[in-house]
Amino acid sequence: GVPEVPARPVAPRRQSRQIHVGPVAVGGGAPVSVQSMTTTRTSDIGATLQQIAELTASGCQIVRVACPTQDDADALATIARKSQIPVIADIHFQPKYVFAAVEAGCAAVRVNPGNIKKFDDQVKEIARAARDHGTPIRIGVNAGSLDRRLLQKYGKATPEALVESALWEASLFEEHGFRDIKISVKHNDPVVMIEAYRQLAEACDYPLHLGVTEAGPAFQGTIKSAVAFGALLSRGIGDTIRVSLSAPPVEEVKVGIQILQSLGLRQRRLEIVSCPSCGRAQVDVYKLAEEVTAGLDGMEVPLRVAVMGCVVNGPGEAREADLGVASGNGKGQIFVKGEVVKTVPESKIVQTLIEEALKLAERTGPA
Ligand code: SF4
Repeated sequence: GVPEVPARPVAPRRQSRQIHVGPVAVGGGAPVSVQSMTTTRTSDIGATLQQIAELTASGCQIVRVACPTQDDADALATIARKSQIPVIADIHFQPKYVFAAVEAGCAAVRVNPGNIKKFDDQVKEIARAARDHGTPIRIGVNAGSLDRRLLQKYGKATPEALVESALWEASLFEEHGFRDIKISVKHNDPVVMIEAYRQLAEACDYPLHLGVTEAGPAFQGTIKSAVAFGALLSRGIGDTIRVSLSAPPVEEVKVGIQILQSLGLRQRRLEIVSCPSCGRAQVDVYKLAEEVTAGLDGMEVPLRVAVMGCVVNGPGEAREADLGVASGNGKGQIFVKGEVVKTVPESKIVQTLIEEALKLAERTGPA
């Protein structure tokens, strides 16, 4: 299963109310969960379930599926039943699909009030249906589809506009006694997004779903998301995250998990501490780091492995790690738990590290 014990979290978490998306607790001190979204046609049940299975295997905890047509709505019940992780239906424009998703047994429904016509008039029925089925609602405000009234009032999608839109919709649900809500206020600009979530976090106690929308291709999107989530999570803000990349969704999950691990919000698995190399390096650090990473991929125990190019910081880092190598003169000193266990020629470094890692893993057992 997913490691639940935070290593050493970056900050105390914001106090939020807790909701449950299927069996996954969100908010109220629950571990920050990682979400993604399928890219298949939802109506293609086989392909969608296949992608959900891949996402589940990569560590995704909650999956969202689009629901733009009746065929997609018709597929929801089977997908929700057969998926191993909770399924959220993503609804824009057509309120009738909100009801369909609730009836289909989806673990939650995401609504975008900005592009559902007369959404406000339908909140009462949506709240009633959601309550009857125990289905939480995500109010998902997006800069690109902000409620027209707020766009007019603020001129553009400012943090204040995003927050006001979200809180307004939440207040309509509250009028009907419905509080099983989480909120997102996404923007493609991390600066605006960070400020919007900061304000939202102060203004309510709902759990928050973090996302930088349309973050871009993998490289840019990874950095934007890491920076934005880092700024918020380091203030304790954020209960569930989705990294949006113009890349396969499994990549989103990997990035999301890595962000949480970097912030100590998720137990670290394999962590490679490798130096950038420099004019002093006495081995090919890039190659070594890559080979060690590949050789230890999928390792289930938390393991910190230092791969260092020379004796300047090498012995120090290698000693601090569970396992490490400090290179020099075509040889590598292999450290295990702070002790030099052997010195091997450069050609044997990777193989030796992997062997020692497996021995350590046997001793430690899975996380
Ligand atoms: Fe350079 Fe050595 Fe530092 Fe690596 S450990 S960056 S090779 S000084």
